[in-house]
Amino acid sequence: MARSYIDKTYTKSYVPESPRFFKTSSKNAQEAHEAIRPTDTYVSLDTVESSMSPKHARLYELIWRRFVACQMASAVYDQTSITVEANEGSNQYALKSAGSVLKFDGWMKLFPNQGDVVLPDVKEGEGVDLEKVDSVKKMTLPPARYNDASLIKTLEKLGIGRPSTYATIISVILDRGYVERKEKAFMATVIGETVVDFLVKYFPKELDYQFTAEMEDSLDAVARGERQWRTVIRAFFDPFEAQVKQVTKDAERAKVPVEETGEMCPDCKEGKLVIRSGRFGKFISCSRFPECKYTAKIIVKVDGMKCPDCGIGDVVIKKTKRGRNFFGCSRYPECTFASWKKPGEKEE
Ligand SMILES: [Zn+2]
Ligand SMILES: [Zn+2]
Repeated sequence: MARSYIDKTYTKSYVPESPRFFKTSSKNAQEAHEAIRPTDTYVSLDTVESSMSPKHARLYELIWRRFVACQMASAVYDQTSITVEANEGSNQYALKSAGSVLKFDGWMKLFPNQGDVVLPDVKEGEGVDLEKVDSVKKMTLPPARYNDASLIKTLEKLGIGRPSTYATIISVILDRGYVERKEKAFMATVIGETVVDFLVKYFPKELDYQFTAEMEDSLDAVARGERQWRTVIRAFFDPFEAQVKQVTKDAERAKVPVEETGEMCPDCKEGKLVIRSGRFGKFISCSRFPECKYTAKIIVKVDGMKCPDCGIGDVVIKKTKRGRNFFGCSRYPECTFASWKKPGEKEE
């Protein structure tokens, strides 16, 4: 159906010689759920736009476009590169430039991209004049922090997790406060770092990527009926159980590092105020805990923003019991303003 659609809509030259088939990357892949592949190629965007919500239409477009494009002919480029030999005293430089001109768009008909890079017409051996030198200082950037997509990609590469478990993995590390989301990136918290250090120290085998990948392979083999689950689980669990008992007996309780605030404790006037991380997030406490039991909530004000309800209090960031951030009024409980969205931001 895709081939006939492409032929009719974009002409024969956009239909590849034979349909494209794709190998799955995992032998257990359950293939696309029927709801995430177009059942009728002829139901195009224009058809759906009027009959569903914009979000649904956008999702349909994404699926439809990818699917149809994957059955279209390849794009063809003319690629050229020019290498200029530059000599300065005894220093020799090779300066390179690459150009590419789209000759035939093929599947890119559905994913139009940024324009061509056209290089000037030069002949081999021809001299070129130096107009100016721009020197640019570049730094090597550290690897980017993980976000949902890049974390899943890495897990996939390591053979850890399955499509059905990725969402759970991410919600566990967030719910337990091992990572926090800043913008879209995950930042490890001190709790997360402490937990990982502890586990790597006492459970090096289980914390090894290879171990998890192999474990999941074995479980997949069980799912396919190729191995007995008791054998697989026993091989893992017997030594693991013994290890847990040993660690429980021997290991020292890991301490989560505290952050200094530089302020004195208002209660005992001896200790210093520190920020501790607990099960329900961060809070202020006295460095002399447990002798001094002073605690206080951390108040994070949103700069220069007054409460939209009472107009007197400041807008502050608070956390629900499950650790989700929300905006509230500093005058709570007198004022009960609360919102998921920052005041002034549009609701989606
Ligand atoms: Zn104190
Ligand atoms: Zn208020």
